[in-house]
Amino acid sequence: MWGLSQAQASLLVQLQMGHILLIEFLHHISKVDSPQCPHCRMGNESMHHFLFECQAWASELLLMGQELSHEASSAQHILNNPDGMESLMRYVGRTKWFMAITPGDVQ
Ligand SMILES: [Zn+2]
Repeated sequence: MWGLSQAQASLLVQLQMGHILLIEFLHHISKVDSPQCPHCRMGNESMHHFLFECQAWASELLLMGQELSHEASSAQHILNNPDGMESLMRYVGRTKWFMAITPGDVQ
């Protein structure tokens, strides 16, 4: 569907399940000492933080907000609608965060 690579498709499934390599989750499974967001240090790096709050990705988030307009505040929309998912993949690509921690896994 819409030209997602295998890696992007599997990333999307992980995001939908909440089992993504965000710091809060890594902390939960004892992979890191603190759940604090390493990018902005203004809160725990939860899914909500990553999708809506992170100041480190403010300009990237703004772009996603412009793409999705009023739907941008709905995690449900972002994770479950084709428009939202496409925009989310572009956002994730712009942050380069998941590429950094899972080398070669996400295009
Ligand atoms: Zn942050």
